[in-house]
Amino acid sequence: MNIHEYQARQILSDHGVPVPAGEVARTPDEAAAAAERLGGSVVVKAQVHAGGRGKAGGVKLAKTSDEAREKAGEILGMDIKGITVRAVLVAPTEDIASEAYVGIVMDRAKQADTIMVSAEGGVDIEEVAATMPDAIRKLAVDPRYGLLNHQAAGLGHFLYDDPKAARQVSSIIVKLYQAYRASGATLAEINPMIVTSDGEVKAIDAKMNIDDNALFRMPEIEAFRDVESENPAEVRAREAELTYIQLDGNVGCCVNGAGLAMATMDLVKYYGGDPANFLDIGGSSNPDKVVAALQLISEDPNVKSILFNIFGGITRCDDVANGIVEATSRIDLQVPITIRLTGTNEELGVKILADNGFEAMVDMDEAVKTAVERGQ
Ligand code: GDP
Ligand code: MN
Repeated sequence: MNIHEYQARQILSDHGVPVPAGEVARTPDEAAAAAERLGGSVVVKAQVHAGGRGKAGGVKLAKTSDEAREKAGEILGMDIKGITVRAVLVAPTEDIASEAYVGIVMDRAKQADTIMVSAEGGVDIEEVAATMPDAIRKLAVDPRYGLLNHQAAGLGHFLYDDPKAARQVSSIIVKLYQAYRASGATLAEINPMIVTSDGEVKAIDAKMNIDDNALFRMPEIEAFRDVESENPAEVRAREAELTYIQLDGNVGCCVNGAGLAMATMDLVKYYGGDPANFLDIGGSSNPDKVVAALQLISEDPNVKSILFNIFGGITRCDDVANGIVEATSRIDLQVPITIRLTGTNEELGVKILADNGFEAMVDMDEAVKTAVERGQ
């Protein structure tokens, strides 16, 4: 789950990371009032689940509260990477001497949380990685020991020549790592981490991504969820207890089981197609889920062909077949549908489909190939 900058700032600040105080505003007048309280000179920042807000015009400086009202008026309602800005963060301006990058990501290949730092901050870290790979130092944290102080010190001295700044940032990195671990994060990024003209190191931006599977133990973070800024299809999928990720291909996939869903996507690619989504309808025998799934897929305008790939284990083929019949009677499908059905109660399922005018295949390759062809 993505959270907003102001929410990530809260988490970091709770763990002792120095973050300037800020206030969230949803109207220009609220922004002006916040600026008044913060002393007038502020930065007004779009709160959306997207990076690169600065470049998109979503971060503006204001010298007075009237100017903050004006800038908030410009930013609120703005479209940043397809998301409408509904709130801004108003924070005191800082006197910036330098900007650095500090981030932690879960690196699945290394099987470790990996800390990345660079003195080339404020810009896209991907760009730094591509053009100046030596400007980034990475540290894979051994999960048995956590982040050790000497390692944090090493990162600090890589970032800053000034020993005072290096010490401050080392201690911030330790706190950032604690915040990351405690929140079940898969990403925590401070870009930029600044040194002020009086030599103080602080975080003036924060981005965190929380592992959905860690949310159950952190209701206070779950409460940060902003449904309005999430993909509407994914929100509905979650409500229907489906695991759905929207992609940009044209073959809609409806599969039972995450492993089979991944294999199906691979095979779609293998036969020259592009999956429109990842969708796991789960192992249950519930026709309502099939209806919800088909509804989601059919509403994606990119979908030109729909593929069901069902391997009946706990899931019974007859239930899925009933779900498909029910769903197609309720939804006016505009695209061809290809069904692969095998396993528990296969004969029954195939018969139900045949009685309703659907052909079912047993072979996965054949079904995927057909679905890809039908989408072209
Ligand atoms: P992002 O573009 O979405 O990553 O948003 P950031 O919060 O990183 O802001 C972009 C840039 O705006 C930063 O790199 C800073 O250069 C600048 N900025 C942000 N906050 C302040 C501030 O308080 N004072 C000044 N002078 N610049 C700021
Ligand atoms: Mn940033």
